[in-house]
Amino acid sequence: MMGPAHSLSGAAAWLGVGAAAAATGYGMPWPVLLTGALICAGAALAPDLDHKAATISRAFGPLSRWICEIVDKLSYAVYKGTRKPGDPRRSGGHRTLTHTWLWAALIGGGTSALALAGDRWAVLAILFVHLVLAIEGLLWRATRGASADVLVWLLAATSSWILAGVLDQPGHGSNWLFTAPGQEYLWLGLPVVLGALVHDIGDALTVSGCPILWPIPVGRKRWYPLGPPKFMRFRAGSWVELRVLMPAFMILGGVGGAAALNVI
Ligand SMILES: [Zn+2]
Repeated sequence: MMGPAHSLSGAAAWLGVGAAAAATGYGMPWPVLLTGALICAGAALAPDLDHKAATISRAFGPLSRWICEIVDKLSYAVYKGTRKPGDPRRSGGHRTLTHTWLWAALIGGGTSALALAGDRWAVLAILFVHLVLAIEGLLWRATRGASADVLVWLLAATSSWILAGVLDQPGHGSNWLFTAPGQEYLWLGLPVVLGALVHDIGDALTVSGCPILWPIPVGRKRWYPLGPPKFMRFRAGSWVELRVLMPAFMILGGVGGAAALNVI
């Protein structure tokens, strides 16, 4: 899928988790619901860091282009090093290492560890990176062009500062789910894991599938391209994505958010 559909699916997924959490007695205070949805919308773009035309690779100027090159090379090396006889030869790293459950778990765990070990600046950095991505993803057409980058960064920085201030107030959820002293913001890893997994599932629905299960082998392949039966798949950016899936994500997200806040 393309950036906007990935972002929307990420936000909708977190709002769905919010509804499930409310139903099981772990209801999210609204700042957690909102911040989590934005982080998840941003995290749902992150696996494409292995592709230089992707939103995330352009979102932070030369820095993200440089990281993208490293990630692409690393992914390609891991692919070559772990491929079984049934895996095809390929020329780049796109849709390999960063599109697996293991990568999702690692960056989610890393985010939680950073939030736990770091101070307020670590939380602000996590918020900033994901808000830039969420804005780029959700405001697709409005953020084209390099001149908009600085505005997006400023908007994300201000929003991160405000959100962190709101979350820090008592009862606003800095310690949601993990309530012991010192576990504030441990939950920040959850929308990051969820966003990456939702991205992988979205890519699995497209023609080429997604090797989510790596390194668990399936038959003669270790990079088995998981996906539904061929007739249910579509091309990235096709009308199915724009006219069917994106409106569906919006409706599901709206219903999920309303249920999470006990409005319905
Ligand atoms: Zn992808």
